[in-house]
Amino acid sequence: MKAVVWHGIGDIRLDDVPEPQLQEPTDAIVRLTASAICGTDLHFVRGTMSGMVPGTILGHEAVGVVEQVGADVRNFAPGDRVVIPSTVSCGYCPPCREGNTAQCDNANPNGPSAGTAFYGGPLCTGHLRVEAVLDGKSLNV
Ligand SMILES: [Zn+2]
Ligand SMILES: [Zn+2]
Repeated sequence: MKAVVWHGIGDIRLDDVPEPQLQEPTDAIVRLTASAICGTDLHFVRGTMSGMVPGTILGHEAVGVVEQVGADVRNFAPGDRVVIPSTVSCGYCPPCREGNTAQCDNANPNGPSAGTAFYGGPLCTGHLRVEAVLDGKSLNV
């Protein structure tokens, strides 16, 4: 599939990358119907936010249709239309239950003190990514 990939400051390319695969039983694959560039992405392009890893697929906000879900996904099914927000959260930890989902204790694989987890960012944000397939071509957000 095609993806917008960060190779370095000022070096962003449209690359061929492997098709998305479910990696965890809580994962989902979403076919994008719309997305946009976020101001946060510009920090990575300009180099004003450190910790980016070459090869990171950029993007973290979109809408689309669920194509595939892992065995532990209960609230979504293939065919559902979804909004993918910028931050990632578990929905069941104390901050999430209080409505402070950007402070989720579980979403960032670097641990609860690592900060807000979001897709397509520096290593400290979890090094997560959104991948999707759009009209036979694949994109990431
Ligand atoms: Zn954003
Ligand atoms: Zn949480």
